[in-house]
Amino acid sequence: MGIWTWTLIALRRESHRLFAVMAGARPGHPRSLAKKDVDARDKRGHGVERSVRCRYSGSMSPKSALKAKSEPSQPETASRPLALLAWYDRHRRHLPWRAASGEASDPYRVWLSEIMLQQTTVKAVGPYFEKFVARWPDVTALGQASQDDVLRMWAGLGYYSRARNLHACAVAVTREHGGVFPDTEERLRALPGIGPYTAAAIAAIAFDRRTMPVDGNIERVVSRLFAVEEELPQSKPLIQQLAATLLADARAGDSAQALMDLGSSICTPKKPACSLCPLNDDCIARAQGTQESFPRKTPKKSGTLRRGAAFVVTRGDELLVRSRPEKGLLGGMTEVPGSDWLAGQEDATAKQQAPALKGLSRWQRRVGVVTHVFTHFPLELVVYTAKAEARTRAPAGMRWVPIATLPGEALPNVMRKVIAHGLRLPPAPSS
Ligand code: SF4
Repeated sequence: MGIWTWTLIALRRESHRLFAVMAGARPGHPRSLAKKDVDARDKRGHGVERSVRCRYSGSMSPKSALKAKSEPSQPETASRPLALLAWYDRHRRHLPWRAASGEASDPYRVWLSEIMLQQTTVKAVGPYFEKFVARWPDVTALGQASQDDVLRMWAGLGYYSRARNLHACAVAVTREHGGVFPDTEERLRALPGIGPYTAAAIAAIAFDRRTMPVDGNIERVVSRLFAVEEELPQSKPLIQQLAATLLADARAGDSAQALMDLGSSICTPKKPACSLCPLNDDCIARAQGTQESFPRKTPKKSGTLRRGAAFVVTRGDELLVRSRPEKGLLGGMTEVPGSDWLAGQEDATAKQQAPALKGLSRWQRRVGVVTHVFTHFPLELVVYTAKAEARTRAPAGMRWVPIATLPGEALPNVMRKVIAHGLRLPPAPSS
């Protein structure tokens, strides 16, 4: 390697160090690193010459990287958290639930957003989050709402067990904790609907506990940075340990959010923008040119296709609906009557499960099928329509609802698609 290459590397690492120092000493930030903390780190080996000497630590195995973190004389691993914070201070996303720079986070908003974001995109969650906080501005207000109201407000966001757990958690925080969220991972995990990831995210972001929540974005960044060859999900514990090496000594919540933002805006699944990444000097996958091959994953088994029928019955301007059983898939949600959803089911068998009503017109089969993909299986539904005479009574367990009030019903996306298909309405949004 020529003298010019070494000089360029030295200059580049020095600029990272300066950014890092700026992040730690950011004036007015209550969680900024104190100057003495930054100075202390410098004494532990942030000098330019040492950084150049350690450049090839990028070829360490993930386990060596963990060992290096435990040895304070390794500048590579020690400088990453500060480089990340410096980048975050300049490029953080502005999200409705995120506190402004220098302000304390509201645990209610952090919790609500984390539950909504499970399996759902930031873009889809935004309007739901705004609606929820406008109607229920704090956890006590949400804990006093009815579950039906919460489910109605949640309709369209999918994975409805989250809405039931959200309500149960709000009730528990209101009744058992006086409307104040517990501030440790352990106590948060005892609440309904809060698993290990969500507990770590709330503890870090809302309470600045020194813990790293690892979501899909962070898994991707870490597995590339350290070139983790082990496949997911088996590699999760190793990735968790490696991710923890990216926590700064202070501002744990910002460290976590920095990695989340890096994963969503720079270290994207396809074509990561490595030239803009604050960790690019140390990234093994980048050095190898193998970024997009990480994280390694065990191939997913796609579920078997299930088939069934849905029956869209109208009585004037009303629609026949029922509620699904409380437990199980789409528990408690509203649906039109339908058949079982079974692999390999014939249309004729599914149609035999049509509701029996007196004075019903002939069933008409709509052209085409409605498709929907659940986590564990894809579904295809044939849609039949029929008209009932005025004053036709709803069968047991079913009810007539005005079509105009359907937006207020807790309808899952698959049923929105079915109704739109049956009533020839504009297409329902896909999920
Ligand atoms: S250098 Fe590229 S692949 Fe590596 S962490 Fe940064 S964005 Fe991801």
